[in-house]
Amino acid sequence: MFNDEGCVVAVDCAVQAANEAARLNEQEDDPGDEPSYTWLPLCVDHEEQPGDTCEECPQD
Ligand SMILES: [Zn+2]
Repeated sequence: MFNDEGCVVAVDCAVQAANEAARLNEQEDDPGDEPSYTWLPLCVDHEEQPGDTCEECPQD
């Protein structure tokens, strides 16, 4: 799961990640238009990188 600062929580289950993101967004004092927390599948090789845009993996 990611916010402006990058990876904040790593969980194994996508459902758990989505629930956690929703919970944290509800706690935001000033959520604004964009949710502060989002979740993405993580790279299988690099836990702190989103799977689809991993900066560590070679990009084709
Ligand atoms: Zn990677």
